Amino acid sequence: MDKSVFKCGSKNMKNRKRFLRYQANVRKKLKYGMELSGECPWCGEASLFHYDRYDAKCCLSCDMWLDEACGDPKCPYCAARPRTPSEAFFLEDNKNPYQKERLRQNYQHKNDGMLRHNRIRDQNTERKEKEERSRNAGVYIDGTGNR
Ligand SMILES: [Zn+2]
Ligand SMILES: [Zn+2]
Repeated sequence: MDKSVFKCGSKNMKNRKRFLRYQANVRKKLKYGMELSGECPWCGEASLFHYDRYDAKCCLSCDMWLDEACGDPKCPYCAARPRTPSEAFFLEDNKNPYQKERLRQNYQHKNDGMLRHNRIRDQNTERKEKEERSRNAGVYIDGTGNR
């Protein structure tokens, strides 16, 4: 008869467990980036994270990048970005300190990397917005109504 109470309790326990695990995860991940405020547009959880090495926003609970890669195969931020954030964290945890330091220095050599990355990302965003606009206004741009 007290089934509803039991159900509710176990669900809270589950949520609490998940929450604690999430917190531990975030603490571990803070050396690779920072938590962002706001909610994920896909799952609605406040689990957004900025991953410094790849200059990209991701959702830790979806394990998904929210920023598209900029598309430059030579971009030091995007070219080496793993498929998912968890793969990126896995790589961090398994890298030896020597290799880490080498990567960091290599990073600084390419100090125009960030500029290029931002420029290309801006271009892509601009292009996308333009496409969006022309799609919305397609009828007016192309009088024939084709495409
Ligand atoms: Zn999400
Ligand atoms: Zn990039």
